[in-house]
Amino acid sequence: MTNDDGSVIFKPALPAEVNFYQSVLSNPELEPLRPYIPRFYGTLRLEGQADQEQSIDGIIALKPGSAEAISDDEKDSIVLENLSCTFSKPNVLDIKLGTILYDESASEEKRARMEKTARETTSLETGVRLTGFSVYDLAKNAPVVAPKSYGKSIKAAQLPEGVARFFPVAHSTSQLLQVPSNSAAGTGLPPDVLLPILESLRDDISEIREALSNAQLRMVGASLLVVYEADVERAREGVKFWLSEDGEVDEDEGDEGDEGDEDEGEGSKKPGIPYNVKLIDFAHTRLVPGQGPDEGVLLGLSTVLRLLDGRMEVVKALL
Ligand code: ADP
Ligand code: MN
Repeated sequence: MTNDDGSVIFKPALPAEVNFYQSVLSNPELEPLRPYIPRFYGTLRLEGQADQEQSIDGIIALKPGSAEAISDDEKDSIVLENLSCTFSKPNVLDIKLGTILYDESASEEKRARMEKTARETTSLETGVRLTGFSVYDLAKNAPVVAPKSYGKSIKAAQLPEGVARFFPVAHSTSQLLQVPSNSAAGTGLPPDVLLPILESLRDDISEIREALSNAQLRMVGASLLVVYEADVERAREGVKFWLSEDGEVDEDEGDEGDEGDEDEGEGSKKPGIPYNVKLIDFAHTRLVPGQGPDEGVLLGLSTVLRLLDGRMEVVKALL
């Protein structure tokens, strides 16, 4: 669910997820994770929420929430920053982290089923599963979605191909012969735009891994959500401003003296960020003081770093 302008999302949440957001914001040990979770605005209860598609005070239900034991209208909702709303054409990838996909409270039957799923997918071996992704096709002017079944069906050896499908390189006449066959005609960024995004994304994910290696918690079913701009000119401007040495990266400039009557969108010269990466989905995340970090999640993040390194090599060769 989202609000009118799409800047925040509302997600029905169990107490564990609410608790985790609150812990990250209040527990000094989890401070390094703060830049890497969506901004958390609090919780609210949607009283009398009837069916989807119904608009309640500017809140539009887009899809029913997850099917948990407690029905959604009995749960509180968490209000989160919408990570894709600042992008013109967002490419979105959800990577499920970890090797263990059931939590303590799972029944014997569920545990066995989830262990089987982990074994039969890339989860157990690599600590990641590509849950799903969506890549903008500029020729069709529509996103192309790789469904859940794709990420569930592939083997570890095919992960680089999956990552290449999410980070395609745009065709250009001079590169036509070198472009990997798996990039569709209307998708992708030119290598000089894609490479700095991959490099900076890698740095962020390395920081996330560092933060999680010092956090004593267990994450079941949490994801890394990666969003980047598919609109080539916007991505190029974003890279120039936010990621390059000569870019005017001055975060304070323009933030002050906001009198309220100035239209941010029209007046400000700041281009949108070219990508964003955060951890999401903490329905089954809990703190385990004294028990060390979640090794399966750390394995997954190492896998992601290795996959990005591989992709960067390919993109560099096309520069
Ligand atoms: P669940 O898997 O329990 O349905 P998630 O929290 O994983 O719930 O959210 C499902 C999907 O919604 C994610 O894969 C992502 O595409 C999108 N999503 C979740 N949180 C955000 C957010 N803060 N901003 C943008 N998109 C989000
Ligand atoms: Mn999820």
